[in-house]
Amino acid sequence: MKWFISHNTIKSPFLEILQQDCGEKISHCYQCGKCSAGCPIAFQMDYLPNQIIRMVQLGMEDEVLASKTIWLCVSCLTCTVRCPREIDIAEIMDYLRRRAYKKGIIPLEETEIPLFNKIFLRNIELFGRLYEMGLIGMFNLLSGEFFKDVSLAPKMFLKQKIGILPHRIKNLKELREIFKKSGKLGRAKRDKLLHPKLIFLNLSRKFIGKIERLK
Ligand code: SF4
Ligand code: SF4
Repeated sequence: MKWFISHNTIKSPFLEILQQDCGEKISHCYQCGKCSAGCPIAFQMDYLPNQIIRMVQLGMEDEVLASKTIWLCVSCLTCTVRCPREIDIAEIMDYLRRRAYKKGIIPLEETEIPLFNKIFLRNIELFGRLYEMGLIGMFNLLSGEFFKDVSLAPKMFLKQKIGILPHRIKNLKELREIFKKSGKLGRAKRDKLLHPKLIFLNLSRKFIGKIERLK
């Protein structure tokens, strides 16, 4: 792939900001490719992890934040432990996701991922553990896939894989305190769980998908 990089892009403070915020020496990367060679999700990504790092070095903020890669990364840390320059690539991906989210840049194909994350976090805050029924119900509702996997529910109930009612952990108060003290997470659940843009994107994506299937 060819990239046309302007003088302004190379001079942009993106690399410096990222290095400062993450505390990672991204400029130390010498493009050995070990991170990408071990990444289990690389086959789905639009840019490989080492390409993302290179793009960051070149100041290509718009391209990096618009990439699907940062949303597809599952934070498995394989790249981080493989990097000979001790760069925490998983942490960088996480930072890039947060930055893209703040700027409202989410590729249309991947809008379900942040939506799922927000509902998951809210679930943990409410019960201290995952309440699968709540997660599935809320996700289906807000993503526009109202009946997705509904046929599996009876089987899962019978096998006791999911319960009808949520179970709360004992020290829920302490856990909520952690959420409260973490300003970012606290805000995330209030502002972003029902982030209108995110829900709108998900619903319109489903709608467009359905129309395309009818063609
Ligand atoms: S493993 Fe480390 S040094 Fe090698 S390409 Fe990836 S980030 Fe760069
Ligand atoms: S943390 Fe993300 S980028 Fe790194 S190997 Fe795992 S999925 Fe790939």
